[in-house]
Amino acid sequence: MTGNHSSDRTTAAQAALPADQATGNSATVYLVGAGPGDPDLLTRKAARIIEQADVILYDSLIGSEILDLARADCEKIFVGKRKGKHSFPQSEINQMLLASAGKHKLVVRLKGGDPFIFGRGGEEIEYLRAHNIKTEVIPGITAATAASALLQVPLTHRLYGKSLMLLSGYSKEESGDHGGFPEHDWSYLAHAELTLVFYMGQHHLGRICSSLTGAGKSETTPVALVSNCTLPGQTVLLTNLRDADSAASKAALQFPALLIIGNVLGLVNPADPWLRS
Ligand code: SAH
Repeated sequence: MTGNHSSDRTTAAQAALPADQATGNSATVYLVGAGPGDPDLLTRKAARIIEQADVILYDSLIGSEILDLARADCEKIFVGKRKGKHSFPQSEINQMLLASAGKHKLVVRLKGGDPFIFGRGGEEIEYLRAHNIKTEVIPGITAATAASALLQVPLTHRLYGKSLMLLSGYSKEESGDHGGFPEHDWSYLAHAELTLVFYMGQHHLGRICSSLTGAGKSETTPVALVSNCTLPGQTVLLTNLRDADSAASKAALQFPALLIIGNVLGLVNPADPWLRS
């Protein structure tokens, strides 16, 4: 068998697309990761799909340089958190995606970082699949790896960080402006060799730190609070579990911020220009 591989593959791919057959809808919804902010950290594939999009539904943390890649006639719909208001309910975003797929061929759902790391990408895929809409996912650089690169500190290290956990710093189970306090297995998280990265951790920062120290983690475990990573005004506040909350209030920590906890942070270069105390 030579020469005919690509047409074989096309036939197999087409056969695997029940969406077209079931509904006659030829739209594809791309869940695209926009990365942490710096447009240079967008993948080439993400940039190409954004350039071709008929409609883009985008979140709050997406910068204008990335949106400007779109065609002039591309419809851009903001579905993020409006200043001082609540986010769009997920059910509303799902319906908007479906409506866009009914009107257009190439729909982009553009999300900060990676669409599958605390991005609700899973909920959107499930909904679209249930409605027989074709989907594709384009990964993005998530905030944790961007912050690790900024600090020039690995999140895993064979001596200081044998494994890595990405955690949510809030829980949507409880209401309130910033959600409730997350239920985690704090005694497991207290293990010294773990690197912990909390997304959306800034509103419950004090309680996250005290839950860890209460479960036996050393108060002197290093903590980095990385604000606006890869964006103008990026800063790193290097502290420890005991002092993190007061240091963050004193420094009036800016949003978005990532909370990194673990002994790998012992490798931070004290001359790092982004560091502040
Ligand atoms: N899907 C995204 C995360 C969405 S949750 C990703 O993969 O990165 C939003 C949280 O991500 C923010 O509250 C913050 O904790 C973190 N975050 C996103 N972008 C960031 C940035 N540029 N700097 C610091 N933290 C960031």
